[in-house]
Amino acid sequence: MTDRRPGFILPLVDNVPVILSVDAFGRSYESHRAVDGLSFQLRAGEILGLVGPNGAGKTTTLRTIAGVLPVKEGRITVAGHDLARQEESAKRAMRWIPDDPQPFDALTVLEHLEFTAALYGQRDWRSRADELLARFELSEKRDAFGGELSRGMRQKLAFCCAWIARPALVLMDEPLSGLDPRGIRSAKHEIEALARDGAAVILSSHLLVLIEELATRLLILDRGRKVFEGTLDEARARFPEHSRGSLEEIFFAATGDGSKAP
Ligand code: ATP
Repeated sequence: MTDRRPGFILPLVDNVPVILSVDAFGRSYESHRAVDGLSFQLRAGEILGLVGPNGAGKTTTLRTIAGVLPVKEGRITVAGHDLARQEESAKRAMRWIPDDPQPFDALTVLEHLEFTAALYGQRDWRSRADELLARFELSEKRDAFGGELSRGMRQKLAFCCAWIARPALVLMDEPLSGLDPRGIRSAKHEIEALARDGAAVILSSHLLVLIEELATRLLILDRGRKVFEGTLDEARARFPEHSRGSLEEIFFAATGDGSKAP
């Protein structure tokens, strides 16, 4: 496992360092409560499946952890850095892969990797860049500019940039939505490899089969609140009527089947 930890001691849970800590996080948009009192932790090597119905607060949570939205309520620490007070260090410890990444028009694919590696202090970038481009089937596009890439290619480039940075935390919002079947297969494989290599990963998706396949732990949100956190087996124990059920069945048990008014 590659050591992605900063040069100080992180809190441990079961002897594994806690990479992300979210404590009493909340967010309102005017009078609407989008996220309310959300707390959870994520350890190195874990893949957290973040799921919930439309409007549950997933994107608001991810965008706040990524530093796109300010932390107004609660506390978020990334690799030991307080996101509100040590924003730069916290951001350097993570990468965010949105569902439709927008690369720079004026940089080529290879230049994106060079730029990202420089930003994250990765010196051995060139050979890793070649390897990543081959793994994500982007080698032929190494000299293409950001604006010339298809949606799936932009997504693959976002993966390559995340991988080359060697971040402690990777946040992904519907990361496979633009990929072709071969791209989906290799991305799944690479996400698992990233976590095996010591990164903590949050994977937000409505594709419950994908979450079931990859996530080591689940966080289910509904209308801004956490309704379940734990492994799939723990979810089955919580909802005994679904003791052998799929994540889809658990999802409906935890969030309702939509027949009740919100
Ligand atoms: P989806 O699955 O549809 O992407 P989500 O779980 O990501 O949903 P959010 O996008 O976090 O949900 O939205 C949570 C709530 O906050 C929703 O009720 C949404 O309407 C509201 N919301 C989100 N962004 C804004 C905004 N910029 N202004 C006002 N309300 C917002």
